[in-house]
Amino acid sequence: MQSLVGGGNGVPRPGAVSLAHRGVLFLDETPEFSGKALDALRQPLESGHVVVARSAGVVRLPARFLMVLAANPCPCGRHTLHGAGCECPPSVIRRYQARLSGPLLDRVDLRVEVEPVNRSDLLCQGGRGEPTAAVAARVREARERAAARLRDTPWGANSEVPGHELRTRWLVAPGALAAAERDLERGLLTARGIDRVLRVAWTIADLAARDRPQAYDVDLALELRTGISRGAPMPAGGGGL
Ligand SMILES: [Zn+2]
Repeated sequence: MQSLVGGGNGVPRPGAVSLAHRGVLFLDETPEFSGKALDALRQPLESGHVVVARSAGVVRLPARFLMVLAANPCPCGRHTLHGAGCECPPSVIRRYQARLSGPLLDRVDLRVEVEPVNRSDLLCQGGRGEPTAAVAARVREARERAAARLRDTPWGANSEVPGHELRTRWLVAPGALAAAERDLERGLLTARGIDRVLRVAWTIADLAARDRPQAYDVDLALELRTGISRGAPMPAGGGGL
């Protein structure tokens, strides 16, 4: 926990969350971390800083990072959709997956299931996917669109805008929130979750050079968060993702 959020005897030392400030904090094998250490990530994720108290004093350290969590589907890592080779009992698999707590997952915007790489994919070189430079150019343009929209505010990116500002100052297309409101009523989405869906929807719209999120953008943000497709059709002009 100390190496993650900071601490130590005497003079408090920065942890990985502060060393990753304005960068990426990647936790591999996340369920292997203690629940206490993972819970301690919640404060910096909300506030962008961490407060470390030790006998020598209290320090407030910056900790605004992009969090990437990786987790195997089971302790042996072989439990896939095809199930080949995994001998973990179902109760062990359930316990392992439950180690990623609800409050931490509520702060995760994009969940992606990844199948193991097969041999032919591994040996196939080049010719697949977009070059990184093309993706980087698209991301830069999207960030510039967001920065232009936010130019008279203290914020520079969609992720920094507080929820109530986002909901009241920049409106999405009429009816675009219908699926998100249904999820909220059915308890599938928390109040924090809907703000996070809105931020992702604005980013998807920025990537597609749309002036504001349509139903498609909000529904895609919901799908990336929950894995459940809502099926709004892509607007004319393309999607960008
Ligand atoms: Zn297994």
